[in-house]
This record gives sequence, C-alpha cells and structure tokens, in this order.
Amino acid sequence: MVFAWILMIASALKKQLRQRFNDRIRFDEPMSRHTYFKVGGPADAWIAAVDENDLAFLMPLLHGNGLPFLILGGGTNLLVKDGGVQGVVIAMTGRLTEISTIDAATVCAMAGAKLNALCRYAIEKGLSGMNFAMGIPGTVGGAIRMNAGTVIGAIGSVLASIRVIGLDGESRRVPASLLRFGYRRMTVTDAAHVDLNDCAIVDGHFILAPGVPETLAAEADMLLKKRKAAQPVHLASAGCFFKNPEDGEPAGKLIDLAGLKGLKVGGG
Ligand SMILES: Cc1cc2nc3c(=O)[nH]c(=O)nc-3n(C[C@H](O)[C@H](O)[C@H](O)COP(=O)(O)OP(=O)(O)OC[C@H]3O[C@@H](n4cnc5c(N)ncnc54)[C@H](O)[C@@H]3O)c2cc1C
Repeated sequence: MVFAWILMIASALKKQLRQRFNDRIRFDEPMSRHTYFKVGGPADAWIAAVDENDLAFLMPLLHGNGLPFLILGGGTNLLVKDGGVQGVVIAMTGRLTEISTIDAATVCAMAGAKLNALCRYAIEKGLSGMNFAMGIPGTVGGAIRMNAGTVIGAIGSVLASIRVIGLDGESRRVPASLLRFGYRRMTVTDAAHVDLNDCAIVDGHFILAPGVPETLAAEADMLLKKRKAAQPVHLASAGCFFKNPEDGEPAGKLIDLAGLKGLKVGGG
C-alpha cells in the first residue's frame, strides 16, 4: 500500500519534470556519458538546466519530494559507481555557460562555463590572473567547488564572490571573505548561512589585474605544452588521483620514491 503511494508520487513528479524540461530530461541516463573517466551507472534522472529559473524551479521541487541531487560540472573529478546516482543529476548548460565583463577588473563566469574558456576570455580582455588554471579541464562551478589550482595558483586567490541557489530556490551572493579555501576544497563560514552541499553554485566573480594579451597568451601556451608533456590528457582519467599531504613532497613523488610508480593490480 505504502509502496503504491510512493510510486504514484514518483510518476506525478516525473510528469511534472517532463512537462517543464521536455527533451532536456533523460531518465536512467548512464553517467558514463558524463564523466571524464567514462564510467558510472545510471542516474535516476539527468536534467540540462539552461538558466537560473530552471535551478530556482528544480531545487525546491526536488527538496520537497525528498529527492537527492548532484550538480554536474564537466565530470572531470567524478568517479561514479556502477550502481549509478540515486536522484537527479543537474547539468549547467545554455545561459549558465556565459562569461561577461562587470568592470575593468572583474569578470563574471557562469558555473557551466568551461574553465579554459574563462582563461581564454581573460587573455583576450588583457586581464591577468587566470593563467594558472590553463589546461585544467572542467567547468567554473566545479573549479570553484574544488578550489582547483596548480603550483602557480588556485581559484580562491582570484575569486571575489560566488552566487548560489539553495533548496528554497532563492539566490544569494556570498563574498569571498565568507569563503575558506583549502587544498582542493572550499568551505563557507557560518556567517554565510549557506550549506554548500545543499546548493548550486551559479556563478563566480573573478578579480583580475591588467595584463598584455600577447604576453598572457605566450605564457598560456607554455603552460599548456608543459601539461601535455606531463599528463596523458587524451586518456580517460580524473587527473591526479592521490591527495597531496599539506606539507612536504607531493603524493606523486612519494609514490615514485616508494618504488610504486607503474604498479598495477588486476587488468585494464
Ligand atoms: C586530465 C586531468 C587533469 C586535471 N588537472 C587538474 C589540476 O591541475 N588541478 C586541479 O585542481 N584539478 C585538476 N583536475 C581535476 C578536475 O579537473 C578539477 O577538480 C575540476 O575543477 C573539476 O571540475 P568539473 O567541472 O569537472 O567538476 P565535476 O567533476 O563535475 O564535479 C566536481 C565536484 O564539484 C561539484 N560541482 C560541480 N559544479 C558545481 C556547481 N555549479 N555547484 C555546486 N557544485 C558543483 C560536483 O557536484 C562535484 O562534487 C584534472 C582532471 C583531469 C581529468
């Protein structure tokens, strides 16, 4: 009896979602189509959100129906199990991929924009500060959430603020002063009144410095060449897999020193 009731709610919700999203919703969507690793079982539903209205509609609806959600960036740092994802995966597309200039030093990048597109945009506008991220795959939203970076910089050092949409569907701008950046992670202070696990990052404002486009482009090319020489960028992966210790040698070097580089267990 209870089971039948749950099914009825689910099909009503499915109908509601289909009506709103039409061909932008897929049920039982294999996550292997959306992860860089090309692995991962089905998500109950996958939805391409095209603007903030979609997010403001979705978040309270899913919350109200007790459905978990996962915001998907470029899927470059996600390892999804064969059992798939329970709930709804939300992809950022359409207007959620735009990049614009706010003032002489500030760029607004929507969460679904490719991080590399933001780097190129900054170069074209003669703005310096984003080159550290050149070659990191994925989206601006994923990069903010992960505080993506390299040895020469990280997102946290150029971020002025982020905008998020929470479970209530309301949008809030959170200044960088209320954000905390650690090694490949970002948290918020209590004063922000935001739970990062319960919201979608919609955009980031980046404060950059004046630079010369030609010089920035040359530096970007050099960084890309270096990356291509060091990483198998054409192969399915999630980048560096091991967490670096806070202090001391990076994980890769420690693995190398322990004589474990190249060690394989099983096939593949
Ligand atoms: C070849 C390769 C090289 C890499 N090199 C680097 C590197 O040099 N430096 C580095 O830091 N990383 C590197 N990575 C890891 C990865 O690219 C970064 O962590 C990247 O920032 C993840 O972005 P994404 O959009 O793919 O996020 P995803 O993998 O899609 O998601 C990562 C996390 O962020 C969350 N998320 C994504 N978007 C949003 C949003 N809008 N709102 C809320 N949460 C969101 C997801 O739910 C998930 O928890 C590399 C990966 C690969 C495959």
